[in-house]
Amino acid sequence: MSYQVLARKWRPRSFKEMAGQGHVLKTLINALDNDRLHHAYLFTGTRGVGKTTIARILARCLNCEEGVSSEPCGKCSACVEIEEGRFIDLIEVDAASRTKVEDTRELLDNVQYAPSRGRFKVYLIDEVHMLSGHSFNALLKTLEEPPPHVKFLLATTDPQKLPVTVLSRCLQFSLKNLSPEMIMNHLKFILEQEKIESEEEALWQIGRAAKGSVRDALTLLDQAISFCDGKLTDAEISNFLGTIDQTILYLLVDALIAEDAQAMLELINKVSDQAPDFASILEALLSYLHRLAVAQVVPEGLDNSQGDKKQILGHANLLPAENVQLYYQIALKGREELALAVDDRSGIEMTLLRMLAFTPKGVPNKPTVALAQSDDEPSVGAIEDTGSAENVSSTTNPETEVEKKKTLETIEVKTQSKPSVEDAVKETAEETLEEITESKPQSTPIEDPVNNHESTDIKLNLKDIKPDQWVTLFYGLNLSGITRSIAAHCLLKNVVDKNITLALDVSHSKVLNEGCQEKIEKALSDYFESKLVLNIEQEELASELETPAAYRLRKQQERQLIAEEVFKNDDNVKTLVERFEGSILPDSIEPLTPEDY
Ligand SMILES: [Zn+2]
Repeated sequence: MSYQVLARKWRPRSFKEMAGQGHVLKTLINALDNDRLHHAYLFTGTRGVGKTTIARILARCLNCEEGVSSEPCGKCSACVEIEEGRFIDLIEVDAASRTKVEDTRELLDNVQYAPSRGRFKVYLIDEVHMLSGHSFNALLKTLEEPPPHVKFLLATTDPQKLPVTVLSRCLQFSLKNLSPEMIMNHLKFILEQEKIESEEEALWQIGRAAKGSVRDALTLLDQAISFCDGKLTDAEISNFLGTIDQTILYLLVDALIAEDAQAMLELINKVSDQAPDFASILEALLSYLHRLAVAQVVPEGLDNSQGDKKQILGHANLLPAENVQLYYQIALKGREELALAVDDRSGIEMTLLRMLAFTPKGVPNKPTVALAQSDDEPSVGAIEDTGSAENVSSTTNPETEVEKKKTLETIEVKTQSKPSVEDAVKETAEETLEEITESKPQSTPIEDPVNNHESTDIKLNLKDIKPDQWVTLFYGLNLSGITRSIAAHCLLKNVVDKNITLALDVSHSKVLNEGCQEKIEKALSDYFESKLVLNIEQEELASELETPAAYRLRKQQERQLIAEEVFKNDDNVKTLVERFEGSILPDSIEPLTPEDY
């Protein structure tokens, strides 16, 4: 049996089988079922989103021998012939190849005659914008006074090029690009029917690569099936598409947050083994940062249309909004300059390192406080203060001199005053700062769980270690870079004699390699001062226990809440706010010591 390409084999035969375009289908179904038919329909949208498919289904709905309805029988000779493209009363024209006025005349000459077999004579004109001006005039005459037995179904990728006179006589439907999620689900359904195994992330990749077009997605799927020889795995698909593995992207952002240059360079090194298109890494990073920024402003608006909702929400909490903006800017610039770099790899490495080099510093151990007026008047004075002020959220040991010296790094004061009083404002601000500096600490020290955890002196014993002690053990291990990130996404399964088994979340399994495994094994051996054998199993982690990564995320969120609370209730802050009629920008409060894992 000859192989039939998927796009043909799975071309929808009814509205129910269509992927996406629900808004258009609903209107058409209502019109068909309630007998409210128009004589000319125009379908617009980019290539491969289903314009001619909908038009062909509509032609069946109109001509099915069982009667006009939104669900044609699919069995009668009209349905079958339309399906096979040989129904005499469905006249399909590709306007791109028949632009001349004679062609259109010839086509429309027969309009007056009744259909030979069907109920309606259906003209399906694809790429209708390609018709010449004269042809449009000929068409327009018919559209103005259409015989009752004629329906026009026009399709175009470029409705702007249609004369307004034609547009105004058509019922227009604009088809949308499909989201990667819709495409992914559609491909998943097809592969299940075809009994072809696939990894979900592999399908997400095709979904993203198809850029909204189902037809392109199916073409890619066809090629991928022959490329992968059997099962469609994530790794093979990224190889096939030359795209960056999403996990690498997430780890890159992890490394940015942790300001871990070593992990970043290791990741690039890893990617370069797969001979990737480096430019696509920057593209992927740009679109990820864009979604991240949107998620920070409207978290409830974030959908899973790209399959990365979980990761975005995690990162959105950890990365200050201004850093996201900065990284975006740097990535954009880096992409522009990629062609000028000696080679793509060094270009991308420099771009990433630049992100770290320019990451706002001065934050560690000091919160950045921004006081801003509540209305939108321009600010007149921004005061950079170098003097000390007691830290508001604090530290495990408030007694020491060092801790007392902790400063509010930047106090930005915006007032409602006019520029001419700038100096006065500045003075007042300085006075206030002096008062604050002189005053005693009033805030309660906050325990920093992440920090404490890291500096823990608890020494675990190999013999009686339990899975729930993994986070503690993790913080005692000497790990860095990707290896540390991988270990952070593990859980401890069991220890039998000198064999330790970890479970690694499948979402991170792609970055695991022998080198990493050896490093973790060595770190564990060093910790327990005994030669151990490490086994890492990859699975979907569904345990109640937290991975170190999940632990860190939870703690960070808790610390953020505490910091905000303490800050808002701090007397000094209250004084500042009062004196300058300021308000606190909620996003400007950061807990102390942003931690690496
Ligand atoms: Zn039928």
